[in-house]
Parts: sequence; C-alpha cells; structure tokens
Amino acid sequence: MNKHRVAGRIEVNGIVQGVGFRPFIYNLALRHGLKGEVSNTSAGVAIVVEGSAGHIDAFAADISAAPPPLAHVVEVSRQSIPVNGYTAFRIVQSKADTAMATLISPDVSVCEDCRRELFDPNDRRYRYPFINCTNCGPRYTIIDDIPYDRPKTSMKHFEMCPQCQQEYDDPLNRRFHAQPNACPVCGPHVSLFDRDRNRVDGADPIRETARLLRQGRIIAIKGLGGFHLAVDAVNTAAVRRLRSKKQREEKPFALMTADIARIRQFARFDAAEQRLLTSIQRPIVLLRKREPNSIAVDVAPRNRYFGVMLPYTPLHYLLLDQGFTALVMTSGNLSEEPIAIDNEDAIRRLSSIADYFLVHNRDIYLRSDDSIVRCAAGETRLIRRSRGFVPVPVFLRQKVPAVLACGAELKNTICLTRGNQAFVSQHIGDLENTATEDFFRLTIRHMQRILKIEPEILAYDLHPDYLSTRWALEQEGVQKAAVQHHHAHVVSAMAENRIDGPVIGLAFDGTGYGSDGAIWGGEALVADEQKFDRAAHFAYLPMPGSTAAIKQPWRMGLSYLYAAYGDALEDLPLPFLRGIDGARVTIILEMIKKRINAPLTSSLGRLFDGVAALAGLRNEVAFEGQAAMELEMMAASSADYSYDCHWTSGAPAQIPTAPIIRAVVEDLLQGTAPALISARFHLTLVRLFTDLCDHLRRDTGLTRVVLSGGVFQNATLLGGLVRALEDKKFKVYTHTQVPANDGGLSLGQAIIAATTATRSQIA
Ligand code: ZN
Ligand code: ZN
Ligand code: FE
Repeated sequence: MNKHRVAGRIEVNGIVQGVGFRPFIYNLALRHGLKGEVSNTSAGVAIVVEGSAGHIDAFAADISAAPPPLAHVVEVSRQSIPVNGYTAFRIVQSKADTAMATLISPDVSVCEDCRRELFDPNDRRYRYPFINCTNCGPRYTIIDDIPYDRPKTSMKHFEMCPQCQQEYDDPLNRRFHAQPNACPVCGPHVSLFDRDRNRVDGADPIRETARLLRQGRIIAIKGLGGFHLAVDAVNTAAVRRLRSKKQREEKPFALMTADIARIRQFARFDAAEQRLLTSIQRPIVLLRKREPNSIAVDVAPRNRYFGVMLPYTPLHYLLLDQGFTALVMTSGNLSEEPIAIDNEDAIRRLSSIADYFLVHNRDIYLRSDDSIVRCAAGETRLIRRSRGFVPVPVFLRQKVPAVLACGAELKNTICLTRGNQAFVSQHIGDLENTATEDFFRLTIRHMQRILKIEPEILAYDLHPDYLSTRWALEQEGVQKAAVQHHHAHVVSAMAENRIDGPVIGLAFDGTGYGSDGAIWGGEALVADEQKFDRAAHFAYLPMPGSTAAIKQPWRMGLSYLYAAYGDALEDLPLPFLRGIDGARVTIILEMIKKRINAPLTSSLGRLFDGVAALAGLRNEVAFEGQAAMELEMMAASSADYSYDCHWTSGAPAQIPTAPIIRAVVEDLLQGTAPALISARFHLTLVRLFTDLCDHLRRDTGLTRVVLSGGVFQNATLLGGLVRALEDKKFKVYTHTQVPANDGGLSLGQAIIAATTATRSQIA
C-alpha cells in the first residue's frame, strides 16, 4: 500500500437522496482516482475515500462546487479516519434506505439530456411528453406519502417495462431510482377532449392542440402542478375572450415562450434575469416590455412588465416547438379559486372558459402554481414561491420545536418546522372562499404526512376574523400562539438570513392587525424572535368603508386630504376632486369625520394608494396593490428633491402624512408631472426611514435593519432604502428565499411561536 495514502469520511447533508447523488459521487471518485464507498444515511450521504491528501481535497471541493441539479447541499463535514485498504470505489445499497427522513425535492424543469432525447428521432422516447430522469421531472406534486418510492407516487398505476426497469435498477444510469421513470410503452399519455368530453381524434394531440391555439381557441392544458389556460398571445381576440371568460379584468397573464431568443422580441432582460429564466425552477420572471411588440395589449394592460417563463415540462417543449411567439399560460382557475388539478374537476370547473382540454393520466396529488420572481436591488425576489421551490426548506440558525404556522389571509402559505428546517408550503391563495379553504386544510394534512411532522405548537395571526385564525382556534390538544402580523414579517426576514435579534425592523404592507386592534402597515419595530417594541408608525387615519377603501383608493385619497386640510379640502382646485361625484364625496367625508365604518390605519400601502389616486392614476383597483404598483412603475428615474416630513417624538413616534400630502397637492396644482411626483414621493420615504433608523440607532445602538412586508415588492423603494441605509453603515437584511409579502408570513409566525415556547419552558 502507498504510504502516502490517507482516508477521510465526508458527510453531506441537505437534499442529497433521490437526486442522483451517489452516482455523482461515484463518478467524481473515479475522476480523482479515489477508492472507498458512498452510502445513504438518515442525515444525508456518507462517503469514505482513500487516496492522496491532495486528491481528497480536490474531491471534497468538487462536491459543493457542482452537485447534481436537484441536490441542495447544506453542509459538508469531513474527518480523518484510519486507512482500510479499499481496492475500488463502490455504491453501497444501504438496507435502511427506504426508512430515511430524507428531504423531498421540488418539481423542476426537464433537463438538457432529456430534452435532447425528446427531440432525437432515434431515441425510444422521441416526442414522449413524460420523459424524465433523476435530474429532472415531477416530485413534490406526485408524492402522496414517504418514503419517496414509486408506490407512494401517482406513478404507481404504471408498471415499468423491462427496459425502463433496467434503467431504474442500474446505479450508473441517469434513471437510477428515478421514480417517475416511464416511456411510451409503459407510461402515461396525453389526450385531447372538447368541452363536451368528446375525445378529439388525431394522431398527435399536441399538434392538434397547437392547430386549435392558432385558430384562437382557449385550451386547458394539464401541466405539472395544475392546469393552465392557454391562448396564442399574439391573438388579441383570443386574449380578450380569455380575459372576459376568466373574469380577470386587469391582472397580467403569464407568457410561455420556446426560447430566450423569442423572449428578446418582446421583453428586455439582463444576465441575472436570463439566469432566472433558465434556472431549473423555471419561474415566471417579471421582465420589462420591449416596445413596440407583437404581444396582444390585453396580456398585461397598463403594466410595464411581462411575466415570462420558459417551458418546463416535455409537453410544453413539444407544444412551443410548433412555432408560437408566445402562449398565454395563466393558471387554470376561475378568478380567485385554486388551480384545477384533476381531469374531471378541470372539465367541470373550466368548461365555461376552455374550448378544449389537453389532459393526461398521471395524477397530480398536490397543486402547485407557477412561481413568480423578479430581480430587484441586485437579488432574486420571490413574489410567489411555489412550483420549483417547494418543499426546499429554509435552513434555520438553530433547532426549533415542531410548529405549524397558519399564515395570513391573503397569499396564504403555511409553514411546518422540524429541527433546523422550516418548510414553507406552496402558494395556497386568498382564504376568501371555500375552495381555497379546502386547499388550505388539504395542504396542512399533506405536508404533515410527507414530512412526518406532528406539530406541538400552532401559530396564527392576531386577526380574529382570518379563516386561518379560526381554523387554528378550532384545533384541540396543541399549544397555541397568536402572533402579530408585522412582527412575523420582520422575523421571517431574520429567519431566512439566519440572524437573531434585536434588530430594527421596517414592516411595510397594506393590512395587518395591530396589537391595539387598528390596522397597521407602516411600522418601525425594534424586534427579536420573541417580542417587539413599536418604535414608530405612520399617524393613524380613517379608512372609510374599511375594505372598500382598499378596492377604491379614491376613498383613501379623501381621507389623506382631510387629515391634511380639514374641511378646506373642498376648496382645492384638484382634478382628483372634480372627478368624483359630489354626493359621494359628502358621504365619505361624513364617514371619516364621524368614524362610521372607518377603522384606523397606519398602512404605507394605503398611503401609496392615496397618493396614486390624488395623482390621477386610478380611483378603483381590480386587485390589492394595483394603484401602488402603477405609481411605482411610472416614477421618473430620479428625483430632484424629497418632500419635508418628520416624525414627532413619543413612544411610539408618529409620522404624520399631512406634510407629504400637502407637498403632493402643491406639486399637482403647479402642474408637476405625476412621474416626478412619484419619484419625489419615493425619495421622501427613503430619506424619512433612513433618518428614522439613524435616530433609532442612536437610541438603541442597533446597527442591523430588516426590511419586510408586501410594500417591499416595490423595487424603487427597496433599492433606494438598501443603498441609503448601507451608505449610513447599516447592515441591511432583505428577503431572497421567501416572499416579502404575506406569502412569507408563516415562516416568521413559526419562528416566533417556537422561540417563545422554548423560552417559556426554560423560565
Ligand atoms: Zn432528465
Ligand atoms: Zn417503459
Ligand atoms: Fe402583510
């Protein structure tokens, strides 16, 4: 034996099972001329290698450098062990393989190898819409229980043919233990139906679908995590028809395009955005429109962005290969309901919208919408975290008890914790109808089952009327913890950045129930994982008509005007006031003055709405945040100055809105362009909150600032604030793993409940 031979044991933790990790290690060991073995353990993968120290170093470095696409390496540890004298490198089949608490991989896009085979006429899977391998394909959406084995997936109905079985059994094959492995002989297939459930004849249902799309038809297409509704995106009549049938007046539709070159025809993107587009998660990426373009205007009306994704299933590739500039691919649901996943259910619910149904017989067990991301302030920002990302956990800085957090009302997600892992569910939706409520309960059951988590603690929002709160309160035999909304936002961002408190937390959103019963949303907190102090907030003012004021920003416009001018507001020669019926103005002013159905709010989201209304952008919105979004989009690229605004001392300090509103009104009366007003307004917020953080730092000594809440989807505000705070030597933490909006709230709830419970046990 070579006397320079040494031995090492390397353990790799994370998502490293069922993703081709052992074959990857095998090949890597051969490349570095090492002997030894690799096996699965309960925590991940264990490797024993023998050879020269230099080769082992290089081998270890390569593990983290380029793991298989579906692997998610969290930790690599290494120790020296005695040399055993291995004569080869081998993959050890561990007996306990199937009983391991392994992490389930998300559903990801078809890999390059499979895509090449898909379009190779000599391949036995040529044009087969369900081609996949260990590196790609469905996972989370087809699993019903663990261990992740074929009988526990919706592939259980398909017995592998001998050729597929052979691939499945060969450790060196790309399809070794690929549970969804299939081919045209043994696997699922697609078929096309009209809305009366008649099968449409034709040799190739996908080519037939393309033909119908070109005719302007609406097709419901079964995908990975649910149905899409598709139309040809350059066909204005078809897009309009889809919009009116879906009762979706203005929310943008997502686009799917065959390749990057085609996206360039109608949208702009940089290298970072291209990386997002082509990432294995294949999210919808928000990209600036290129004008002029051939996409129908109704795809994303009054919006500077298109939501664009590349194909992610073999079926999508086959369809997009038929020569479309782009297809609209919007989620297959009625407005506000969960996306359809079941063939029967889809035909029942979508036959009023779709002309045809392209379905297949591989069941989807758990729906998962397309994820939505954008680049802002140099990082990836998740707007909706779903397919491709779930169920990859957020890895926490410490171990926590098992918690189930129920999330908020809108953009609901739930979160389950286990050890140092927090599993945030896919996007569930707005808990405003029974269909979504059913999906909420189903997701809780499903995730508890596949993650084997029995929660000891339930965390829920303070809001007494949230359906998620009511559900939590109905549960028995479990400890419960109510969590304040904005505290949860701040701790959510702390958790994904693996920091503990105390920090200065800026939590800006539309609506969240405050500890005093008012509606908060423009909050500066001093917070840790257990508690918070409300250091400052926007001064309260009435929301006339409560939630009606969210749908009708002009009501907020009046409320801000009243706070700034009192009764004198009616003398202002503002186009905004002339645009509203006088009788309605009188009624709303009465509600404001007498506080009738007018809860108090400190929300920054509402201030955006109000300024947008005053600036003449829109008086009514089709979805929450629309006016605020349009105000951001129209902002001039830079502002010459900011409006004067200062908080008043007190605990908590109050930030009056009147100075900002008066400055906006003066600008409007002088005929200043709304684009410039918007830019000045953004700069005002950046300076105001940078100064406030500076002030809080002097009081508390805290130098770390955490930014969270739905308002931080605003890239101008986020980018401006990060830069300004960093210029003042603050360390700034933002969201990059979960959404800043309420989709990330359940993570913060879980950590607060877990930490509070742990501390109270010690005390
Ligand atoms: Zn593949
Ligand atoms: Zn087969
Ligand atoms: Fe919120």
